[in-house]
Amino acid sequence: MEKGTPKIVIAFDGFSSSGKSTMARALAKRLGYRYIDSGAMYRAVTLYALEHGMIGADGTVDAEALTKTLPEINIDFAVQPDGSQHTVLNGKDVESEIRNIEVSSHVSAVAALPAIRHDLVTKQQAFGKSKGIIMDGRDIGTTVFPDAELKIFVNAPAATRALRRYEELKAKGQQVSYDEILANVEQRDHLDSTRAESPLRRADDAIDLDNSDMTIAQQDAWLDKVVAERLKAL
Ligand code: C5P
Repeated sequence: MEKGTPKIVIAFDGFSSSGKSTMARALAKRLGYRYIDSGAMYRAVTLYALEHGMIGADGTVDAEALTKTLPEINIDFAVQPDGSQHTVLNGKDVESEIRNIEVSSHVSAVAALPAIRHDLVTKQQAFGKSKGIIMDGRDIGTTVFPDAELKIFVNAPAATRALRRYEELKAKGQQVSYDEILANVEQRDHLDSTRAESPLRRADDAIDLDNSDMTIAQQDAWLDKVVAERLKAL
């Protein structure tokens, strides 16, 4: 990026496993921006709730207990030697744990709780104070950074997204079935877009990206063009 180019806020929103994190992370690296995975924050709170018996066998979340413990839940991101970031929950690296199917099955119920959302949205907004940030999630362009200079809404059919997720988890050695992943993706799509508190919604001023038939290189090229145009228009 040219010297003196102003730094902006870039919001990525979209359905589960649409590939937005991979894309957003790589774009942040190319631009020299900070990348924040807001979903990892909801996942870390869910892991904490599971570890502390706040989610019952039937999936019910003890909202009162979890809300009371919020001040004790410290979430941070640690930059690794290879430049990637790991989610840290109360001093422990939980990057791998927060991606497991148990956390994935409960995270949307936790993320639907207004008190949890308010707490995490405030933390996310603090990350954006100095600009030069890319954040991905479900409500970044609508609630967290409604004034973001660039908003991208990523989508692809559920079956395509589930297959990507299945291959990703299998490559990491996790024992999962495609049907289980597809059911989880569809369940999260439904819960995320129907909850009362800041549901997953495309911001009116977002640019759409359906990446079903795009390679990573094509997505990156598309994004670079969109970013360059946006920066030029500032
Ligand atoms: O992005 P990821 O799939 O890891 O997010 C996990 C879950 O966290 C989502 O399914 C959604 O329920 C919740 N989430 C959210 N708002 C965000 C980011 C994630 O509700 N900004």
